[in-house]
Amino acid sequence: MAEVKHDRFVVDRAEGVWLYDADGRRYLDGTAGLWYCNVGHGRTEIVDAVAAQMRRLDNYFTFNDYTNEPAEELARRLSAVAPMDEAKIFLTTGGGESIDTAAKLARLYWARRGQPERVHFLSRRQSYHGTNGLGTSIAGIEGNRDGFGTLVSDTTLVAHDDAEELRAAIESIGPEKVAAFFAEPVLGAGGARAPQPGYLEAVAKICAEHDVLFVADSVIGGFGRLGGWFGVERWGLRPDLITFAKGVTSGYLPLGGVAVSAQVADVFWAEPGASFPHGPTYSGHPTVAAAALANLDILEREQLLARSRELEGPLHDALLRLAKHRAVAEVRGGTGLLGAVEIEASVLADDKGLITRMQKAVREHGAIVRVLAGNALVVSPPLTITEDELTLLAETIEAGIDGAL
Ligand code: PLP
Repeated sequence: MAEVKHDRFVVDRAEGVWLYDADGRRYLDGTAGLWYCNVGHGRTEIVDAVAAQMRRLDNYFTFNDYTNEPAEELARRLSAVAPMDEAKIFLTTGGGESIDTAAKLARLYWARRGQPERVHFLSRRQSYHGTNGLGTSIAGIEGNRDGFGTLVSDTTLVAHDDAEELRAAIESIGPEKVAAFFAEPVLGAGGARAPQPGYLEAVAKICAEHDVLFVADSVIGGFGRLGGWFGVERWGLRPDLITFAKGVTSGYLPLGGVAVSAQVADVFWAEPGASFPHGPTYSGHPTVAAAALANLDILEREQLLARSRELEGPLHDALLRLAKHRAVAEVRGGTGLLGAVEIEASVLADDKGLITRMQKAVREHGAIVRVLAGNALVVSPPLTITEDELTLLAETIEAGIDGAL
């Protein structure tokens, strides 16, 4: 708080992969905002679709039998590409709301199946699952859990790449008490960490063996960031629930959701009188759905999912120029269009503010990166970035690190 009291960075406008401040200086958007602006900035197709929808039907709710065509079409399109049989789509206004929706769906699913004691959640120590009540208590990053008093769910945290620890935890709690395991396919806020080969497949199998619901949190990973629609396809996963947000509208308007497999959804749809008593006001908002549809059109027309897969290697290669830098501990990347440059603990040890000064120095040199996990400069550029711009991004990070040292 003290840091931003007198020192603010006002973003004035944006176009493509570039942001401009009020003085007209431009910056390469190395993070696509908060991992979301997958199609880049200034897309007039999305602006026009939103304006047209607002003129026709600005907003209306989708409870009971009320619905609207943009929300219906969005659900149809997402269901058609979701890696699960006959997925139902529950629309929300963002990632955190989607996590809480998935957690409530998981518990109510078990209650409806006559196993109300299945309320326990599992997740990983470096995970982030949003800011809502259940998401705060499910996620692992300590600083985000501390100080809020009693959290609202029993959660057991396990190591991020140790499938056997998950198995042992489920067995020690008792599978009959566990509702679901939440996992980001690639840890985002935990520092852009891809899974070891075989890990995700192994945890999905362990969940299936113990009848524990597997919730893939693809809020970051979806809509091209990891090369597929829902961010789990490259591992052949078929989760019970998938949470999404961010790239579904490229952040032009706030929208998220949960893709729900038929097995889970049927409990609510097939039983007479059953319902899911949970409905955010703006769920299925037609104008926001129109933004998502226009965004999906761009992703399809410009083949940006394939483009992301083409660019993940070049992004990693560009960042690897920093691997031999004396201040750099590790460069991560190569799984999706995201990466991290982790700074040596010894370099950061005596200077608490150094990592933030590095991030600001990178900005002074003309690129936006974020600090995550207290020790890493993280990037996740728009999927429309060029290879030359990826090189420029890496050069700018190097110049910023050198400038701050
Ligand atoms: N889940 C993951 C993996 C995220 O990275 C985030 C946000 O960064 C969320 C959930 C929460 O999404 P939102 O900020 O839209 O509530």
